[in-house]
Parts: sequence; C-alpha cells; structure tokens
Amino acid sequence: MRSLVLIGHGSHLNGESAGAVYRYAELLRERGLYDEVVEGYWKEEPSLRQVLRTVRSTDVTVIPMFISEGYFTETVIPRELGLGHQGPVPPEGVGRVLGGKTVRYTLPYGVHPAMSDVILARAREALPDLNPEDTALIVLGHGTTRNQNSNRVVYENAGRLRESGHFAEVHALFLDEDPRVGTWPEAVKASRVVVVPFFASEGWHTLETIPEDMGLTGQVTEFADTPNAPQTVYYAAPVGTHPDVAEVVLQLAQEARGASGAGGDEDRTHAQAWEAFLALARRGTRIGEALITPQAGMFELRHALDEGRHAADLQTLVTVEGLRDHTRRDEGGHHRPVHTLRNLPRGWRAILTEAELPRAVHNLYPAVVEESYAHHTHNLRATPWPTTARRQTGIYTKVIRATPEQVEEVARDVCSRCLKTRLWAGERLGSTVFSGVPGAIPCAEACTLLVAEVREEVSGKRGQTGH
Ligand code: SF4
Repeated sequence: MRSLVLIGHGSHLNGESAGAVYRYAELLRERGLYDEVVEGYWKEEPSLRQVLRTVRSTDVTVIPMFISEGYFTETVIPRELGLGHQGPVPPEGVGRVLGGKTVRYTLPYGVHPAMSDVILARAREALPDLNPEDTALIVLGHGTTRNQNSNRVVYENAGRLRESGHFAEVHALFLDEDPRVGTWPEAVKASRVVVVPFFASEGWHTLETIPEDMGLTGQVTEFADTPNAPQTVYYAAPVGTHPDVAEVVLQLAQEARGASGAGGDEDRTHAQAWEAFLALARRGTRIGEALITPQAGMFELRHALDEGRHAADLQTLVTVEGLRDHTRRDEGGHHRPVHTLRNLPRGWRAILTEAELPRAVHNLYPAVVEESYAHHTHNLRATPWPTTARRQTGIYTKVIRATPEQVEEVARDVCSRCLKTRLWAGERLGSTVFSGVPGAIPCAEACTLLVAEVREEVSGKRGQTGH
C-alpha cells in the first residue's frame, strides 16, 4: 500500500490558490498508481501539521508542488512535517520514519529535468509547427537575487532545450533580474518567438507584467519595429498548470521510492479511527455541522440545520469533488481555509457510497476523524502556544513577542467562531464525536490562521487588513 501526498501553499483569503494541487491530485488519483493521493497545505486544511496523520498507508511519498526550491520547500514544509531537516534537499530526497510511517520528502516538481518536456509541450500548444530554422524559444523565469536556485532551473531547462534541436535559438530571460524580459528584441534574431513562462500558475505576472514588459497585445503579437523585424511572438500558458506536470510528479515519486518494493501496510491507527467512524455513520451520525444518514445502501450528507428539509429543496451533489468544491465557500461565497469554523453552507445534500464516504468526510473536516479518535483513545498530544510560536520562521517569528493576553484576545475572536476546543490553550474536552457529541472536536495545535492573526496583533495591524 502506498500513499502520495501533494503539498501546496494554499491561502487564508483566496479560494483559488489550492486549485492547481486539487486538480493534480485528481489526475493522479485517476491514474490509480497510488492507493491514495492526499493534499496538504501551509495555509489551508489539512495543514502540514496534520496531513501525515490523514494518510492510510505506512509508505508515504511527499511532493512539494512548487516550481522552484526556496524558503517553503527547504524550511517551512520540512519543519511543519516534523522531518528534522532544514536547508537544501538532496537530489535523493529526505527519508524519515515518523509515527511508524516511512516518509520520503522530495525536491519540488519544478526542478525535475522532465520539466523541459512540459516547456516543449507548452511551446507546441502556442505554435504547433515549431521549426528549428526560424523559431526561437524564450524560457521566462521570475528571477530574484534572493533565490539563485530559481534562476538555475530556468538556465538548466534552456540548456536542455537548446541541445534538443527543436529551436533555432533558446534564451533564458527574467522578470526581476538580468537578462530581463524587456531586452528580448535585441537578444532574439529568429522571426518567430515562443515565450513560455516558467511560472507555477496564471496570475498577475503572467497576465499583466510579462505582456507589458514584452509589448504583447495578445496570444500572438506581430512586431514590425524590432531590430530583427518582422517578428511574431507566440505567448504560451505557464508550465505549472500543464496536465503533464502530473507525469513529472509520478516520475519524481518513483525516483524517490527507488527500489523500495511493494510499499507499506495499512496504518493501524488510521484504519481503527475510520472503522469506528463508519460504524457510527452506518447508524446515522453527526460530525461538526454535518448530518450523515444511511439511505438504501448509500449515505446522505447535509447540513444538520437542513434536517427534515425536502430533498427537492436542496442542491444534490453526487461526487466527492462536487461536495468538496461546494463546501469550500460559505454562503456569502467566502473562502473557508479552516473547515471547522461554523460557516458550513446550507442548502445541499450529497449522496455517496460507503467507499466514498471517508474521502467526503475528510474533505468536509480534514483530520477531524483521526484527531478526534486519537483524543478519544487518549493518544492526542497538544502543542502549547509557546512551542508553536518558537517554531515559526520568516515573517512569523515575531509572534513569539505576543503576550498571553494578546494570544487570548485573538483566540477569543477567531476560535470562538470555530467548533474546536483549544487543547493547546489548556481547555478540556471530555467527549468527542466518538462518544456521541458531534461538535466536540479537539484542536491540538494553533492553526496557521490563528498564527497569522496573532502576527497582525503584534504588528498593531489587526483589523486594518480585512482579516
Ligand atoms: Fe479553530 Fe482556533 Fe484551533 Fe484554529 S486555533 S483550528 S480557529 S480552535
């Protein structure tokens, strides 16, 4: 049995941020090469602190879904996963045994050599009849003097594609360092120029900054006044959203596993938690704000406050993904980075099989079954606030300066809207969903939303930024 974990950044504010990782997870699930594919996020749930608890197998490969190495892949993710590693990740990855699971942490997908094929695929989409006689390629990176690694990857890809013979010229240009993208008219001699942004996703840079710096007016722009005019520039979509990235992820995962054979076993604690939960669900149960009712061999999920409403009055969802996407926003359309905040939207019902139920409940309330079961069986260890604060790096190091009163004030605001009980602040929780109390959910450790809010408080900015 083997589990694949994809790690994304996520966002407290922007619901689209996690979208690319969700899509890759779906593509990889369809391939069926892993028994499960699980997503984890820095700023959403399941959080990096929880995600390993949510995997079924004792053989886990973790891929950071980032386009380049840097602060998140070298500092934040290994720290939050508890890998005991900081700094550059070696090519063979970092392997650890954590809580009885063999965990392999790899380099980010963006540095894998197979990304050159993805760049080529993007170039072909923009200009199907690439011709080595008259076509130049620009691999366009962000570039920054703070992260030499991101530049190195762009140069390496440009080098490989130069050797491939598909192009008359190949250039590596950057937004934020020399050689800059605006210098392309002097650099490129060919009459046709394909530009492929080496970016993780579509955004401000790909939609505005790059076209502006290059003088582009659309996907195809004719230039009559460049030194080598006439020239036509074909602007491709960013590499990070190409479906072939899923293949790169698989290659990376395979290489990380090496010759390590048939995989692991089913994690016993995980299996026990879900067996206990399914036993409750078969009789009909509530978890958080959701009501689960067995119906003719299937399960119906709905908001508990919609109990008794006629099915025709509710929107019916029939897939796990449909339920996930529908409940990622509250009724006002706002993103829900913390799923246990009491803002699960109403007005829907999902009809799912027993095989689908665990993933549906996992999406509704990530890690809640595992952590509640651990608490129920006296195996959940709380992390007190000072430990969480000391662990922070980068812009969050300042939370160590928060007084207990400041933390409490923020928690009174943020956590009072949450179903969870703060074990990390010394609160007691005598029951759980497993003893029949649907809203009794343990919070073992302050979430990143709370940490971010404490930072705002310490900075004196709380309430000024729309948080
Ligand atoms: Fe909920 Fe507060 Fe725990 Fe965050 S820290 S999960 S808001 S109880």
